[in-house]
Amino acid sequence: MDKEQKYIMQTYSRLPVVFVRGQGSRLWDEDGAEYIDFVSGLGVCSLGHAHPAVVEAARNQMGRLIHASNLYYTQPQIELAEKLINLTFEGKCFFANSGAEANEAAIKLARKHSKNYEIVTAENSFHGRTLATLAATGQREKQKLFEPMPVGFKHVPFNKIDALRSAINENTCAVMLEPIQGEGGVHVATREYLQNARELCDEKGLLLILDEVQTGLGRTGKMFAYQHYGIEPDMITLAKSLGGGLPIGALIARRKVAESFEKGDHGTTFGGSPLVCSAAIAALNVLENDGLVEKAAILGKYLTDGLENLKAKNSVVKEIRGIGLMVGAALNGDFAEEIQLQCLKKGIVVNKVTPNTLRFLPPLTIIQEEIDQLLEVLGEVIEKGFTDAG
Ligand SMILES: *Cc1c(COP(=O)(O)O)cnc(C)c1O
Repeated sequence: MDKEQKYIMQTYSRLPVVFVRGQGSRLWDEDGAEYIDFVSGLGVCSLGHAHPAVVEAARNQMGRLIHASNLYYTQPQIELAEKLINLTFEGKCFFANSGAEANEAAIKLARKHSKNYEIVTAENSFHGRTLATLAATGQREKQKLFEPMPVGFKHVPFNKIDALRSAINENTCAVMLEPIQGEGGVHVATREYLQNARELCDEKGLLLILDEVQTGLGRTGKMFAYQHYGIEPDMITLAKSLGGGLPIGALIARRKVAESFEKGDHGTTFGGSPLVCSAAIAALNVLENDGLVEKAAILGKYLTDGLENLKAKNSVVKEIRGIGLMVGAALNGDFAEEIQLQCLKKGIVVNKVTPNTLRFLPPLTIIQEEIDQLLEVLGEVIEKGFTDAG
């Protein structure tokens, strides 16, 4: 930890634990203590840690061809794209290396396709840390230090269709939304809001971009969160769990939109490498073959019900939000940091997403007994009470 302070730029507030191994929904620290993981590497390790199918696919591919660049054809990238298109809508993929990069690609494609530039996003949203995705992110305090921000983004209150309508002008080319705001504290878009946003985009000739970097690939109990809403976006972006733990991002756009990207318009050295794409194919196969998406819906309900129960018993818990296994617990005070630390000491990994909100993003392979253990520990920690805010 001393060396981390000396050699790593201090951009992260890390919890005082060194993880050295993971298996399924369990993590172990350097002293051999075991933890149940309700964060899964920020929703990345959806299949649990070290899933054998992902490990085997990555290991095999690593021995064959790790990287060749996009100067050439490689087979896993194309196979992964075909799979993703079969799961979403008639369109095409662009592979990047992270969520922010997938969103950058979406922003560039929206501008190129529409020959216009302004994108309306939601307040409290999170779209990434690169300059353009930071400008898209509706959190002023994150932007201030790095001004001037790239132009062309407008932020409106979430879940308010009139505000969205009022923000549209002759420069607008797209609306970009998270179906569930993750980093903002787990706020779910209403069905009416996303449906109205879709209609509004159709009426005004705008592109609807859904940032499914966190909600995508089974997390919410459907393969993609937009499928809860009975709408189809023009583009979606994916990342977090797509690579089964390896870094990958993807932009999927409707065919007509996708075809606005022409040779040389966009690119990346690492994007869509045989290694990450092989891991992603294996991860998708597990997700489908093991019925993990359906399990996420059932276990998500179990987790939410359990948290509602805690709320009924203790006034520290204010509100439970989320869909499937993307769940937030809002608290009556800034207690998330303390609860996070107390839980960690008791072998339960949870996440403070905002000072007054806990977030749960367990692997979709989590089992009922593990959720019971979370609820028990959380109950104990909360029962003890808090003396001051934070
Ligand atoms: C995590 C996240 C991102 C950024 O992804 P990175 O891989 O960290 O760049 C973008 N959008 C949403 C909704 C996210 O949850």
